[in-house]
Amino acid sequence: MTGKICDIFRTKNDSVSFEVYPPKKGQKKQFEIIKKTINHLTDLQPDFISVTYGPGGTNKGKAVEISEYIENKHDIERHKGTIALAHLTAVGYTESDISDILDKLNSKGVQNILALRGDIPQDVSFPYGAWCDFEYAKDLISVIKRDGRFCIGAAAYPEGHQDCKDLKMSVEHLKVKVEAGADFFITQLFFDNTAYFRFLDMIESCGMNMPVIPGIMPVLKASQIRKIVSLSGATIPDELNEKIDLYKDNPKDMEKFGIDYSVKQIDELKRNGIKRFHLYTMNRWEQMNEIVKLSGLR
Ligand code: FAD
Repeated sequence: MTGKICDIFRTKNDSVSFEVYPPKKGQKKQFEIIKKTINHLTDLQPDFISVTYGPGGTNKGKAVEISEYIENKHDIERHKGTIALAHLTAVGYTESDISDILDKLNSKGVQNILALRGDIPQDVSFPYGAWCDFEYAKDLISVIKRDGRFCIGAAAYPEGHQDCKDLKMSVEHLKVKVEAGADFFITQLFFDNTAYFRFLDMIESCGMNMPVIPGIMPVLKASQIRKIVSLSGATIPDELNEKIDLYKDNPKDMEKFGIDYSVKQIDELKRNGIKRFHLYTMNRWEQMNEIVKLSGLR
């Protein structure tokens, strides 16, 4: 078996995975904390752990280092063979930059990339412009596919994307990513499962049959979730909205409700035949441990 996620998907029809994010520049202590978090998450035997990429490559060194840590260096006796999925954004890069990054990831043993367009970050300027060689994620996917060394994931948006609210058109754009070489999708967070089911139907009716893994974001902090939701555009069901208001000054109750909500969300997805789950951990492992165990994922 290789360390490629697409090979795992070919042989196994269920999976659990996590997303972590690297520390900001200069947060050396945070780096050690994230390593511990990764060790705890790997105790749950995830099929892979994904590592976000700072907007415009602002933390690219750390993202590669964390991916390498997942792939090679964590407590090897405890968890053999945990696989890293390195996110990579195209914004601001030339083809030659991407070629260097692919060589670097390959030299560290990373064989899986979540290929993204990215967004233009504030306060970062790019010598060749933001979209010099890549206008969309599909362009980055084509280059990685041509390289031939990586399994490729891409992003999908069950409630549309800020630049394209027409869901039918969004699904057409996914098809182009598949034609360019995407092997699977991970979705943007959502709290209303009906949006995801409707999206899956649209994808299937377009003839695509690859994994579209639901991205589950536990609501652990009221202020954080309001910010994330305003950026992602996800709909907040009434029940969730009321509880975020009710518990906003009571972090313990908020966290407990958030864990229960994710467990219920996963349970409903499972009852409807969904077998793969990607959890946005926000670098919190204890809460993920609870969610994974309470929902019977491990
Ligand atoms: P694309 O697929 O290129 O889509 C961008 C927009 O263009 C969409 O509206 C799409 O519908 C439209 N579009 C696509 N193709 C065409 C076409 N041919 N013609 C016209 N319009 C088109 N950002 C980070 O900075 N770092 C991360 O680590 C990160 N991880 C993410 C992980 C997941 C699972 C998700 C869902 C998002 C992540 N993002 C991350 C955010 C992402 O970079 C932004 O949402 C970005 O705006 C779009 O990236 P994309 O890869 O979806 O782009």
